[in-house]
Formats: sequence, C-alpha cells, structure tokens
Amino acid sequence: MRTPAPFFLFRNASFLFLLIPAMILCGPACTAAQRHQSIVSSERIRVLLAENLSSVEITAANGRRVKLAAHSALPRFFPEGKNPILVNGKPYRGSIEVRRLGRASADRGRAPGVAVINHVSLEDYLLGVVPAEMSRRAPQEALKAQAVVARSYVLAILAKRRRSPTVPKEYDLRDGVTDQVYGGKAAEREETSRAVRATRGEVLFHDGEIVPGFFHSSCGGRTATPQEVWGTKSGAGDETTKVFQSVSDTYCEAYPRFFWTTELSRSRMNEKARSHWGLWKVTRLAVLSRGPSGRIRYIRLVGRTRKGAERRFLVSGKDFRRVIGAGEMRSTLADIVPTKTGWLISGNGFGHGVGLCQWGAMGRAEAGFNYREILKHYFPNSSVVRWKGGKKRETP
Ligand SMILES: [Zn+2]
Repeated sequence: MRTPAPFFLFRNASFLFLLIPAMILCGPACTAAQRHQSIVSSERIRVLLAENLSSVEITAANGRRVKLAAHSALPRFFPEGKNPILVNGKPYRGSIEVRRLGRASADRGRAPGVAVINHVSLEDYLLGVVPAEMSRRAPQEALKAQAVVARSYVLAILAKRRRSPTVPKEYDLRDGVTDQVYGGKAAEREETSRAVRATRGEVLFHDGEIVPGFFHSSCGGRTATPQEVWGTKSGAGDETTKVFQSVSDTYCEAYPRFFWTTELSRSRMNEKARSHWGLWKVTRLAVLSRGPSGRIRYIRLVGRTRKGAERRFLVSGKDFRRVIGAGEMRSTLADIVPTKTGWLISGNGFGHGVGLCQWGAMGRAEAGFNYREILKHYFPNSSVVRWKGGKKRETP
C-alpha cells in the first residue's frame, strides 16, 4: 500500500484559503518549502454538515447574518474569524462553505438544495468528535486513547478515500455515524478537549501507514480482527488491517451489560426471514462456524418457502446481527439455543469487537495504565507517533 497522500486540498478553491494565510504567516521571504510546510501542518478537512436544504441561515464571524436558499448565488464562503460561525444558530470552528453538490443537479430537473460544508483543522474537528464518541466522565487516559484512535481513523480513512476516484469531490466526511459523529463547537467538553490537545498530532502507525483506529463499546473478553468480522472476497483482508490482532481483555467486564441475553420468538424470526431471505417459516437455526475470537462466522438457517419447499441458507454472523438488530443482538460473540417459543441468544460485549475496546480502555485507565499502554494492548503491532502531514516523528 502506498503512503497516505499529504492533506493538500488542491481539488477545490479551499486550497486558496489555506495558501493565503500560510503566505501571510511566513511573509514575502518565505520559501516554497516553508509555505508547503505551513499548509501541511494546518491539515484541514471538509465535513458535510447538511445537504439538500431549502435554505440555511449563516451568522458570519463578524456577526452579519445571511439567509441563503437554493436560488441564491452560490457557492459562498464564510472565512473563520474571532467568533465561531453559526449555521442555523449552531456554532462551528473553522470556515463554512455553502454550495450545491454536483451530483444533486441530476435530480429530475429540480434545482438542487443547499449543502453546508465545514472546513476545519483536524485538531479542531476532533474537539467536536471525541465527546460524541466517549463520555467526558471517562478517565483522562481513556479519553486520550480515544482521541488518538479517532485521529488515526480519520487520517487513514481520508487517505484511502482520496485515492478513490468514486468518492464525492466536494467534501471528505459526513458529520454522522457513517463516519464519526461530529457536533461542532456545541459538543465540546473541557475534559475531552484536554485529551485531544494533550495528544495533538498523535496517531497509530505501522509499517509506513496510519492504522485505521477502529473502536467499539465492549469486546466481551476478546477483540476481533477486521478479517474475522468484515472479511474480504479473497479472505486475505486489506493490507492495512493485517496490523490488527485478536487480544484478550478482562477490563471490560465491569461494563453493566457485559453479559446479555435476548429472546427471539418464532414469529419474529419468521417475519425477519420472510423479508430478508424469502423463507416463510424457519425450522432450524444453528451456529455453523466461529472465527478465531469465538465470534459467529456463519449460521445455518433451514426453513420452508411459502409453497412448502425446504431451503437452506448460510448467513454470516455480521448479517444475521444486522437483520436481528444490532442493539438487540449486541455482538456476534454469542450462542443461539432453541427454546419452546423460539431461540435464546446470549452473548458478551457490545459492538463489532475490532480495535479499541472503550470499556476496557476505561477499566485500564482506572487501574493506572496510561493511554500509550492502553493503545499498546489493543493495537500491539502499532506505535504512537506524531504525524506531521506526510512526515512522522516518534514522540518521546
Ligand atoms: Zn474489552
């Protein structure tokens, strides 16, 4: 795999907004290399806050209020200033771009709605992400581990996306669960901001690559590898994910729902099977194979069609959990046992199980481990380095 591309934003006008302050900062004697370094160290990302709005109200950094609608002259750019910019009253660090998205223009001849994009430095972005992903009441060392993982996730995902020709050109990330939840300045908390600042620039690194910082709520006693949970057609897995190892964990046992059970009635199972697998009635449901961490790899599903013909299906543990509901079947580290009325599913942990176990990280922090020790446990093949846009520096 190639080294991740540096985070230049050559692809759109936002590059100018990075270049101009960089030139002002280092003055007329500034060499090309110095300017280059200034741009790199101010890595900025573009977060899509909303799209297809009929209108949006922006309060610029100077306090001027502007209402923009689909028929307004767009794009409009609101540069950052002393005060945060308000988008429909909600404050954001960095600058704001209001535009139409290219792909929306193909929508049945209708004028596309308004999209709002926040251009924000990586570190400022993380201030609005970490409090959404871990409670501010968690111990400081666990919050620091979460900050490093969140930063690593963003940079690894961006590097991958920017190499892909099919991703949208106008923005890098969305502000919801499909990427990481980002609440802007309103979400920031003193404790989580302290953790982001204390780990400024630090990422998980392995063999010339930033490691995608996957995380989950509780591993249930053993973490999983990405290959085990997500797999690939070749079965070999993405090169980057080879860095992950399945490790045991006892520190997440304090999690209030470490062990869980859920009852799956026959009628409910049939309902799911009808809409997802075309089975009218499920007659047998059994775990067929498990991955190295013990998570369900495949389930054998036997049933009858509406006309009474027998059908057999192999369903992956991940797909089965999605169909049953990820909040109900909280992980695939589970057993499925038939009962008189249906099936009893009992398991450990919550989430996919790859990477950082958040409850384990909190338990380790309470036991006195620092964030580097915590990260070393869940990412044993990675080291924590300070990332400087294309260059890395080992931190002391
Ligand atoms: Zn755990």
